[in-house]
Amino acid sequence: MWDYAEANRITTLEAVMAEECIFCHRHLLRIPSQKFVAGEKTLLAQVSICQACGWWSVYRVHQGEYQQTAGFAESYSATIGSLKELDLTDISTPLAEVRQYLLAKENSMFDAHPQLFENVVASVFSGLGWNARVTAYSGDDGIDIVLDGPDDKTIGVQVKRYRRERRIEAEQIRSFAGALLLNGHTKGVFVATSPFRKGAQNTARKYADFGYPIELIDAEKLLDALGIAQISSSKIGKKQIASYFLRTGVHVGTGLHREFSPGEDIRLRSVILQTFARGDFIEEED
Ligand SMILES: [Zn+2]
Repeated sequence: MWDYAEANRITTLEAVMAEECIFCHRHLLRIPSQKFVAGEKTLLAQVSICQACGWWSVYRVHQGEYQQTAGFAESYSATIGSLKELDLTDISTPLAEVRQYLLAKENSMFDAHPQLFENVVASVFSGLGWNARVTAYSGDDGIDIVLDGPDDKTIGVQVKRYRRERRIEAEQIRSFAGALLLNGHTKGVFVATSPFRKGAQNTARKYADFGYPIELIDAEKLLDALGIAQISSSKIGKKQIASYFLRTGVHVGTGLHREFSPGEDIRLRSVILQTFARGDFIEEED
C-alpha cells in the first residue's frame, strides 16, 4: 500500500531519520544495520518500519567507488515509502490494507463503506484476542458485531460511522441497551467515530450501575485499539525485510537516477531520495 505518489511531499532527510512514524506517530522499529560487501564496495543499510501502519524508510551508507560519487569516500542514499490512495468505499478492499490506511490517515474512516468499517472494527476485536462475529447485514436491529465472552456470555457491539459533528445522543444508548437485552447479551460496546454527548455518557453510566455495562469507544480509543491490534498481529520477518529492501538497494548509488512514474511497481524500485555527501554535510538532491 505504499508507493511514491506523495513522494515529493515527504522526501526530507528528517523523514528518513525520524524515530517516529511520520503518519501515525508511533515509535518506529529499527532493524539493526545490515552490511553487504561486494568487492571494493560496502553497503550499510538501516531499515526503520512502523509496525502499526506499515510505513518504512531505508537509510544506506555506501563505501567505495561508485560512478556518480567518484571522489567521495562515502555516499548516502535513502528510500521512504509514501501513502497510496485507497478506495474505502469499495467493500472488497483488503482488510489488512484498510487497517493500515486508517492508522496512517485517520480522517478517511468517515468515508469508509459502513460494512467495511464494521469488518475493520470486528478485526480489531479479533486482533485483541476476542472471537468476533459480524452479524448478517440485514436490517439494523442495533447489534453489528457479537463477541463471545467466557461462560457462554456474549457481548453485543454497535458500530456507528458518523461524521465528527454528529454526536451520539442518550436516546441511541437507550435503544442499544434495548437491543442488547432482546438479543440476550450481557454487556455492550458502542463504537462511534463521533464523540458521545454528556447525556449519552451519563446514560451508559446508569446502565452500568444497574449491572448492565455499556462501554463507549470513540474514534480516538478505536485508533488506539487498532494500533495495539496491528502491532500485536504484525509479523515482521527481519530476514525478509533485509532481502526485500536491502538487496534490491545494493545497486543504488551507482549513478542511475530515474524519475518516478505513477503506477510503477514499488518492488522494482527503491530510490526516491538520494543524497551524496562528505562527512556530516548532507544535501538533498532535487
Ligand atoms: Zn505508522
